[in-house]
Amino acid sequence: MEQFEKLGLSKEVLVVLEEAGFKKPSEIQEKSIPLALAGKDIIGGSATGSGKTLVFASPIIENLKTDSGVQNRIQALILTPTRELAEQVAKSIKQFSKNRKLNILAVYGGVDIEQQIRRLRSTDVVVGTPGRILDHLKRRTIDLRNVKILVLDEVDRMFDMGFSHDVESILYQCPKERQTMMFSATISPDIDYLATKHTRNAVKISAESQVDPSKLRQIYYDVPTGNKFSLFAHLLKEETTGLVMVFCNTRRNVDFVADNLNRIGIHSQAIHGGLTQNNRTRVLEEFKKENIKVLVCTDVAGRGLDIKGVSHVYNYNIPKISTDYIHRIGRTARAGADGRVINLLSSEDYLLFGKIMEDDSLKKTIKEEPLPEFEFIRIRAEFKRDFSARRNFPRNFQRRDSRQRTYHKPRR
Ligand code: AMP
Repeated sequence: MEQFEKLGLSKEVLVVLEEAGFKKPSEIQEKSIPLALAGKDIIGGSATGSGKTLVFASPIIENLKTDSGVQNRIQALILTPTRELAEQVAKSIKQFSKNRKLNILAVYGGVDIEQQIRRLRSTDVVVGTPGRILDHLKRRTIDLRNVKILVLDEVDRMFDMGFSHDVESILYQCPKERQTMMFSATISPDIDYLATKHTRNAVKISAESQVDPSKLRQIYYDVPTGNKFSLFAHLLKEETTGLVMVFCNTRRNVDFVADNLNRIGIHSQAIHGGLTQNNRTRVLEEFKKENIKVLVCTDVAGRGLDIKGVSHVYNYNIPKISTDYIHRIGRTARAGADGRVINLLSSEDYLLFGKIMEDDSLKKTIKEEPLPEFEFIRIRAEFKRDFSARRNFPRNFQRRDSRQRTYHKPRR
């Protein structure tokens, strides 16, 4: 606790950190909390898992007026790419500030706007997604003229999701006199441009994430098209695991994988943007409580989530961009735990996987694993179209009977 104390945090916050089991500051906390408390603008090159929430929460909790009692006085705005991240950040700030009287509200689409409008009147800190914040600005139901602290969390994600114009429109609605903090796992030229334009004498800080690279093992299997699901089911059954996150590139694939896992008795849940917000929240809660062991998700739904105990990340589809890959693998090997990333590669993934392997550090760490023997599993009929190449079984594919086939390892 002494080390946290040195950073300039108050007793009220230190007590909460102690209760939460924080023993010493993470790298980004050590480097940035004193600057953040001094009101400096910050550009942080750091991913989720680095402990950055406490960095931007610190000046919000320590420097803003609490219990101002003034209506329509939003003092801090935090923009996040997704609803889940908005909820997660709001929850963390509520926890860190539980000994202070700050009203914190997560604001995102897919939920009743009237209720949000009523609650916004007495909110000090808004954590929201760009779309919904812009919606409130257009309706004039949010007033950002008193914002003292502006935070952009996971800027690279917001840009990937096409929110760059929305983010900039929102920036223009905040007063010029303010503290701005931006965090991004990668800083591309357009993010750098936005950061330089909208910050003042910002201090640039980079730090490693909490993901421990020495604890993370990344492998790939090169599996014949049409056998991917069978191999995947085999690996899930074989490996003793904690929580498993499975990433697919489309909602349709997410549903397909989750449906077929449930059909063969592996309890799983799908999560993607097509679900109602209530359902998304419920599924996540069930997963966090470990009532569901396997969560199948799209990048949007799985982004930035901090879930303890994820031992395996499967890429059922290879992501289109390497930043998505980095974000996906960041869900495991957190806070000193072991983690495994398993890429399931078929011919349709080669191109995307080739792009990811252009990154030298990834090329060095992702190793090929020989295919084990596994049983062929029939895929549900209505999804056959996705697997049109099933007919082209490889040579070493032996049919045992009409229902059951076994994939035999090729002799090398
Ligand atoms: P964040 O990057 O802020 O989302 O934090 C990632 C996870 O690390 C969260 O579960 C935090 O509660 C946890 N965390 C943040 N800072 C520390 C710390 N100094 N010690 C231990 N855990 C931490």
